Amino acid sequence: MDERDLIVLGAGSGGISVAIRAARHGARVTLLEPNAIGGTCVNVGCVPKKAMWIAAELAEAQAVAREVGFASAPGPLDWIEYVRRRQAYIDDIHASYRRRFTEFGIELLGEYGRFVDAGTITTGTRTLVARHIVIATGAKPRRSTMPGGDLGIVSDGFFDLRALPRRVAIVGGGYIAVELAGVLHALGAEVSVFVRGDRLLAGFDAETTEQLLMAMVARGVHVAMGREPASATHDGVSHALQFADGEAIDGFDTLIWAIGRDANTQWLDLDRAGVRLGRGGYIETDEWQNTNVEGIHALGDVTGRLALTPVAVAAGRRLADRLFGHAPDAKLDYTNVPTVVFAHPPLASVGLSEEAARALHGSDVAVYRVRFRPMFSALTGGEERTFMKLVCVGADERVVGVHIVGRSADEMLQGFAVALKAGARKCDFDATVAIHPTSSEELVLMGEMNRTPVV
Ligand code: NDP
Repeated sequence: MDERDLIVLGAGSGGISVAIRAARHGARVTLLEPNAIGGTCVNVGCVPKKAMWIAAELAEAQAVAREVGFASAPGPLDWIEYVRRRQAYIDDIHASYRRRFTEFGIELLGEYGRFVDAGTITTGTRTLVARHIVIATGAKPRRSTMPGGDLGIVSDGFFDLRALPRRVAIVGGGYIAVELAGVLHALGAEVSVFVRGDRLLAGFDAETTEQLLMAMVARGVHVAMGREPASATHDGVSHALQFADGEAIDGFDTLIWAIGRDANTQWLDLDRAGVRLGRGGYIETDEWQNTNVEGIHALGDVTGRLALTPVAVAAGRRLADRLFGHAPDAKLDYTNVPTVVFAHPPLASVGLSEEAARALHGSDVAVYRVRFRPMFSALTGGEERTFMKLVCVGADERVVGVHIVGRSADEMLQGFAVALKAGARKCDFDATVAIHPTSSEELVLMGEMNRTPVV
């Protein structure tokens, strides 16, 4: 039986971060990962998604370049060659992780681990014991249980595509639906998104998502609200969706389910360790990433809390600092986490939505907003507007929410997230000199004119 200080189940963003940080503190660490190192983010998430988003940006830029006088005619993406390039980038990440595991003496086992009891893991070939075990096994795309829910693909399958689909149906209205819709449309597919609710991106600032919806529709993505699918069929040639209201739409060569994700816990034998699952089958954790069993911790997507790579990484590092780095108070603050939806155009958001702020602070909320045609649109004959919104609270107008949709929003938000975390007030934004000519300068130029009266 091998005794270690820390066993980590899952080498995704969370698992790798806790393993490396613990090893840096001198812990003897074993990391178990039966699949590709890097988990969802590196292999079938953020990284290849951003690669496709970049390709989509380039595809759009071709048409724009022609509009302003460049001679070249837009052409299709060499998909196979681009996937090769994308995979080479991912391979480099794998190699870099392996180097770091060697550097820090982390033992990597390419096997599934399951609990024997609360302090023991078996891999089939090895039995390992440790004072601390971290579950960081992530989540996987959900399949619908409706008739035909096994047809079509999920986001993992999107990354297996080797050619541009012609006519695509996407079910869902969250991050993945919106992002894949934008990429596929920009690359030349006809895309229809079917949302069961009445808005995109539930939980985000509603007005900001409304602006995104307008931009997506103006670009040519079909978005249908109130469309609850009841079943899916495939007639040997194409997919069809039948909806709860009785209507059916057919002729899709690709059907993508983007209806959320489920925690990867099935093969862990959690009951042997007594680990409790919470709402939706995620592992329940407290603010310290502790499960209900002493010495067993969980982090990342398997916990169902803010399923974002940087959150898992930050939580993993703090957990390792707490367990092995003499930092007993280290824990992640899950508030004010910035996020970007890599839609076309991108949407960036940190802090409270207007709705959440009003629910918490009532009439103490002030909102500033601006909608403008950025220089890029004006010069290239485009009509697309950028929308920005500040949500402020109290007499000193502390900024509690920043929401942006528009070109380059993805690269604008990080610094403003620091300001928000530091407690910046609207007057601090006003006192900041603008960078000209940019779109982000509008965030520090929102005067009284842009203020919505407090209601
Ligand atoms: P989301 O939770 O974001 O969205 C799921 C969507 O599917 C919602 O619109 C939901 O509708 C809808 N839905 C759920 N069940 C059904 C159903 N049976 N029929 C029709 N629609 C349904 O999940 P995603 O899969 O898009 O993404 C998972 C998570 O991964 C995200 O929440 C995010 O944390 C992370 N992610 C982050 C990215 C980033 O940082 N850029 C990119 C991609 C993913 P309703 O609102 O009505 O429940």
